[in-house]
Amino acid sequence: MTPHTTLHDIEARITQACADTHRPRTDVTLVAVSKTRTANEIETLIGQGVRDFGENRIQEATTKFPLLKQRYPDIRLHFIGQLQSNKVKDAVNLCDVIHSVDRLSVAEALAAEMKKQNRHLPCLIQVNTGDEEQKGGVSPHELTALYQSCIALGLDIQGLTVIPPVDDIPDLHFALLHKLGQEMKLPWLSMGMSNDFETAIRWKSTHIRIGTALFGTRSGTNS
Ligand SMILES: *Cc1c(COP(=O)(O)O)cnc(C)c1O
Repeated sequence: MTPHTTLHDIEARITQACADTHRPRTDVTLVAVSKTRTANEIETLIGQGVRDFGENRIQEATTKFPLLKQRYPDIRLHFIGQLQSNKVKDAVNLCDVIHSVDRLSVAEALAAEMKKQNRHLPCLIQVNTGDEEQKGGVSPHELTALYQSCIALGLDIQGLTVIPPVDDIPDLHFALLHKLGQEMKLPWLSMGMSNDFETAIRWKSTHIRIGTALFGTRSGTNS
């Protein structure tokens, strides 16, 4: 399949999943996850109308996106990886949305850097719904405390993010994130990837993060 056919196919599936749940297509932002992809591959999608891209490593993003943003000022970069304190400065400078606030130290570093650069980016808190040890994300029972700290710091928290454990059925994780988002009255839910984005849309996802279904299989270590 050519990339154009692929995007067309994904778009049709998003539209169908939205229609199935009586949601307008405009409720859902397609974030094309461009980690490991070249600037050329990204430009092909920009040419087809994609405007939102996701990267999980700041160092990699800084090799591609400064130039792409100069050429296409209306594209948006979403940071979806684990944020290290020493990368917060570059993240605030280069990104437009941060999906992965997951601990107080990161929230504090982001708040300080946003003030310094006067760039107040919308953020999402990443929740570890599976309570997995090695994985990023705050555990559900610590979420309220982290959220309140973020608000006190002046961060613009718009929603919640989840990455379900790979060998779990995603529905329960999406359902839990949906419930938490409703309780907290947050408008955004970042959930759904290549294999489960239709399910995520049914659980009211607003940001689906799609890599392989758009670009093909990834090679290399940054998976
Ligand atoms: C890589 C990645 C994705 C995309 O995964 P695919 O299965 O390739 O669609 C989504 N979210 C995060 C956080 C990722 O790191």
